[in-house]
Amino acid sequence: MDLSFTPAEEEFRAELRRWLRANLPPGWTGHRDFPTLAAEVAFLRDWQRRLHDGRWVGIHWPREYGGRGASVIEHYVFQEEIAAARAPEIINRIGVNLVGPTLIAHGTEEQKQRFLPRIMPAEELWCQLFSEPGAGSDLTALRTRAERRGDGWVVNGQKVWTSYAQFARWGILLARTDPAAPKSKGIGYFICDMQAPGVTVRPLRQLTGSEEFNEVFLEDVFIPREHLVGREHDGWSIANTTLAHERGTSPRQLVIHRMLLNDLLRLAREEREGTAPAAADPLIRQRIAQHVIDVEITRLNNWRTLTRLQKRLPLGPESSFIKLFWSEMSQRMHDTVMDLLGPRGLCWQPGPHAVAGGRFARSYLYYRAASLFAGTSEIQRNILAERVLGLPRSR
Ligand SMILES: Cc1cc2nc3c(=O)[nH]c(=O)nc-3n(C[C@H](O)[C@H](O)[C@H](O)COP(=O)(O)OP(=O)(O)OC[C@H]3O[C@@H](n4cnc5c(N)ncnc54)[C@H](O)[C@@H]3O)c2cc1C
Repeated sequence: MDLSFTPAEEEFRAELRRWLRANLPPGWTGHRDFPTLAAEVAFLRDWQRRLHDGRWVGIHWPREYGGRGASVIEHYVFQEEIAAARAPEIINRIGVNLVGPTLIAHGTEEQKQRFLPRIMPAEELWCQLFSEPGAGSDLTALRTRAERRGDGWVVNGQKVWTSYAQFARWGILLARTDPAAPKSKGIGYFICDMQAPGVTVRPLRQLTGSEEFNEVFLEDVFIPREHLVGREHDGWSIANTTLAHERGTSPRQLVIHRMLLNDLLRLAREEREGTAPAAADPLIRQRIAQHVIDVEITRLNNWRTLTRLQKRLPLGPESSFIKLFWSEMSQRMHDTVMDLLGPRGLCWQPGPHAVAGGRFARSYLYYRAASLFAGTSEIQRNILAERVLGLPRSR
């Protein structure tokens, strides 16, 4: 295994660093408080437009669609550097990371022409209308119906946990097209106009106080024929293209948790009001040492998967291990952070008693979601048990 980057990859990294130094929003320190979620989204749209002007959005897309045709290593380096600079994330992540690659693989020429160019500059934001109240881990249980009507379909049902639906112009939607077919057959993959009559978006307030999530109600929503992706009953296989892009390496999370480790060390060494630093406690020292080991394991796991991707080998069920490991590592690290903060950890909004403006406490709350999104820990364990360890199925 060669663990070094080539000169061309190092030059790519240096070019991106130069660009970030010159283009990060003035006064940017890695975080900014916004009066509303809408103001934050507007700021992030501007940021994505700027990145796009520098050709730094969708670098993994083929050149013919405006990408750089970047290699898996370059894409990895890109994510690492963006996280290391504490640069804002792009807002149209679903569009760039999920919709674009899916339409490039399965869309018609008209769909590519119509939708792809407006994804990169965040001109049109996208959301993912997959999960339902009774269909999350087992998406094939979805009940939203799409019935043929004239030159299209009429859709009825409800979606939930739809991130940024209130700002989205379009959504990728899974709906049942043939109720008589076995569960994973008879599902269609549609492009849903979020401004169409019959679409109602209701924000849900989260633990963090933010309202990124939504319930989406679909009542007699008409979807024209040209907004079907692939064949009418073949949506499940297309959804798997989309879901495959949610898995794999997580360089961003690796960098974020490496930085969290530094924060943790600072907190553990801090002397306050004449008390000994927390690091004087051998049990705290052992916990921190374990976190260092865990972050290193995450790095090596990322590199192992990167090697597979570079050799064009399938990701395989082992990618479940990466997701399971980093998400649970994150929660253990945040638990230690909160233990070190003590009562100060309760201040999760900026204020006189908040440490780092409440950033650690908000991060603690946010990362509770890590063991749910992109497949819960239980589901990852099922995959590992059945497909890696060969244990009997749980049903
Ligand atoms: C931050 C975040 C953003 C999200 N954004 C979107 C989005 O934009 N669009 C979208 O469509 N969805 C989104 N989701 C939804 C996400 O995909 C689901 O939460 C996830 O798939 C789990 O489904 P569920 O919440 O319905 O839980 P359920 O599937 O109902 O699971 C409930 C509990 O039962 C356990 N469980 C379920 N089945 C099994 C089993 N077979 N064996 C053992 N245990 C089991 C689960 O692990 C979990 O603990 C988002 C979620 C989060 C947290």
